[in-house]
Amino acid sequence: MTTATTTTTEAATTATSETTTAETAASTATFTADPATHRVLTGDRPTGLLHLGHYFGTLRNRVRLQNQGVEMFVVIADYQVITDRDIADRLAEHTENLVLDYLAAGLDPDHATIFAHSAVPALNQLLLPFLSLVSVAELNRNPTVKDEIAHSRQSAVNGLMFTYPVHQAADILFCKANLVPVGQDQLPHLEVARTVARRFNERYPHVDGGAVFPAPQALLSDAPLLLGTDGGKMSKSRGNAIPLGATEDETARAIRGAMTDADRRIDYDPVNRPEVSGLLLLAALCQDRAPEEIAEEIGDRGAAALKRTVTDSVNEHLRPLRTRRAELATDRGHLRQVLRDGAERANAIADATLDEVRAVMGAI
Ligand code: ATP
Ligand code: MG
Repeated sequence: MTTATTTTTEAATTATSETTTAETAASTATFTADPATHRVLTGDRPTGLLHLGHYFGTLRNRVRLQNQGVEMFVVIADYQVITDRDIADRLAEHTENLVLDYLAAGLDPDHATIFAHSAVPALNQLLLPFLSLVSVAELNRNPTVKDEIAHSRQSAVNGLMFTYPVHQAADILFCKANLVPVGQDQLPHLEVARTVARRFNERYPHVDGGAVFPAPQALLSDAPLLLGTDGGKMSKSRGNAIPLGATEDETARAIRGAMTDADRRIDYDPVNRPEVSGLLLLAALCQDRAPEEIAEEIGDRGAAALKRTVTDSVNEHLRPLRTRRAELATDRGHLRQVLRDGAERANAIADATLDEVRAVMGAI
């Protein structure tokens, strides 16, 4: 992978990010963050175990940016779990498991502030002024919200589902993050965060004319939308994921059950053969090679040979991470301490931002 430096305004879009503008999304292929001018926020919902989509979609980028010296905030979006289900099932366990996966993947709590947003009240309070900055029509036409409604477990769509992109703007802007490593599905939400920041700054400038919030930019990886074993977006909640913490046998079983097609000739054709191409991409990412090259090697040996290659590649690539994960899992107290320390740091920043917001709004 090339790591030529580029500024945020020169940022390139990837082939799979037509839904966004060049200034919204940068691709890691051409991006090196400047530690002095970038602050990162990313996050996940504690709805289950992190999977390969997270790993190649955002987690690797987070670790890379952290190791470049960029200040990093990772939010565990626990309130957002109840956007698409009635009850946040096994919330504490899922939250600890996210921390476990983060640390196993290489996030370092001395350099990354990891916290649950329900532990940071001032962050959530930003939602009130922010909600006044977006119209109901804008919330209504968000394509990711529409997709998530289609997959929701609720019979009726709740208000939080419509407003959670604005909540996400609060997650990003409370710490004035300007770089957000995300998967493709998050790009519409990044647009909401940018809109909220721009409108807030226009409506409530500092007395000296300065802006309160930066315009956050998305950072897409080489795998902004990794497919699951059913050919749809790999998701924690859709039963189609390969968890980072799965055993090698569980991984083999999940990949054996993956959807493919009847054509024995294996080639990389994401448009016409999404399932086969998704598997090839997975092997390619693990081996750091081109998917076409791996397809060529498999030739006409069919889906079973492809799946064996993918299983071996995934298990080999994840072996060191899984070893670290097993070691870290023996000390759950450490995971909870990471969250407590993170919440303390995040609270100090959120309180300062909320004070600034109140001041420019005249709410003293
Ligand atoms: P859920 O099914 O509960 O919504 P999820 O698997 O979609 O879970 P999220 O916590 O919603 O995971 O997403 C966390 C981050 O991971 C987001 O930045 C999202 O874009 C990214 N991400 C999730 N799934 C994928 C995927 N399949 N490919 C690339 N990135 C992904
Ligand atoms: Mg999701």
